[in-house]
Amino acid sequence: MRPDMDRPGAVLNGLSVDVEDWFQVGAFERVIDRGDWDTLPSRVEANTDAVLALFAESGAKATFFTLGWVAHRFPALVRRIADAGHEVASHGWDHARVHTMTAAAFRADLARARAALEDASGQRVTGYRAPSFSIDARTPWAHAVLAEAGYAYSSSVAPVRHDHYGWREAPRYAFRPLADAALVELPVTVAEIAGRRLATGGGFFRLLPAALTDFAVRQVNAEGQPAMFYFHPWEIDPGQPRVRHAPLRSRLRHYSRLGAMAGKLRGLVARHRWGRVDAVVGL
Ligand SMILES: [Zn+2]
Repeated sequence: MRPDMDRPGAVLNGLSVDVEDWFQVGAFERVIDRGDWDTLPSRVEANTDAVLALFAESGAKATFFTLGWVAHRFPALVRRIADAGHEVASHGWDHARVHTMTAAAFRADLARARAALEDASGQRVTGYRAPSFSIDARTPWAHAVLAEAGYAYSSSVAPVRHDHYGWREAPRYAFRPLADAALVELPVTVAEIAGRRLATGGGFFRLLPAALTDFAVRQVNAEGQPAMFYFHPWEIDPGQPRVRHAPLRSRLRHYSRLGAMAGKLRGLVARHRWGRVDAVVGL
């Protein structure tokens, strides 16, 4: 049964995948040297192909926020994403968080990633997601840089308090961060329970009951607003190499319930109406 999917007029929600390899996640950035990335066994191509196959089962379309680094090494993968009818968007060049960069460095990072993504996909890239949702109160210039570079939307804000990221004071729903530009920011969806905001995507979806994400999607849709969901290709890969010298909390978060993720995703995709983020923001 797909009650929401078949209901005419049901809100279209954003389905998104942050395309990066198992060794590029923020939680491991202190223990894995960027200089070693080329020597580590890459699994991003096989894992993303598995995500494409999973979406093909239901015909769901999504946005793949992809690192320029990945597009440069695996251009055929980016082309397969585009050829399957999905949107290719930017996740920056090499997962450097926006608040670690100057505005000029951010501009250069965006341009380098976009060139690789557009070359590989043959499509224009108009969407952006900051690595680790790193557009927050520390980066008041970031949305202006995106607008100047011609981006139509960003999904780079987590309006929640979290130990690695978050901007609790940010709006919960889509907003225009600049008075003089059409750029839309579509924050990742949080549930609101008794005045508290709870994160729902990525590792939270993997580790917590799917019912919490279902609750958040319905809560947001009841306000007439689209939900914004995300996960990573490595989250459906129980066979990935284990990073043994990472902090225990990072390892618990990263490796728990990887085997159950694909089945959980199938259920979530079936229970709500999903689409590409450019379609959700009305492009
Ligand atoms: Zn990421």
